[in-house]
Amino acid sequence: MNCQKASELASRQQDQPLSLSKKINLKLHLLMCEHCRNFSKNIEQLSDSMQSFLSGDDSKDQKK
Ligand SMILES: [Zn+2]
Repeated sequence: MNCQKASELASRQQDQPLSLSKKINLKLHLLMCEHCRNFSKNIEQLSDSMQSFLSGDDSKDQKK
């Protein structure tokens, strides 16, 4: 798996669950590749704050 594919899967994962084999491939890539690890961390945080923004729950951000 290359970095482009990995970042694509990482962002798609936010919307829909990946198949087991894709999940494993992505995990393996993230273990080896710091760049994609950071990228996937960033989009997770982004989707977290997006969700609390959409649900109108901003208390979660203040707690952090
Ligand atoms: Zn990568």
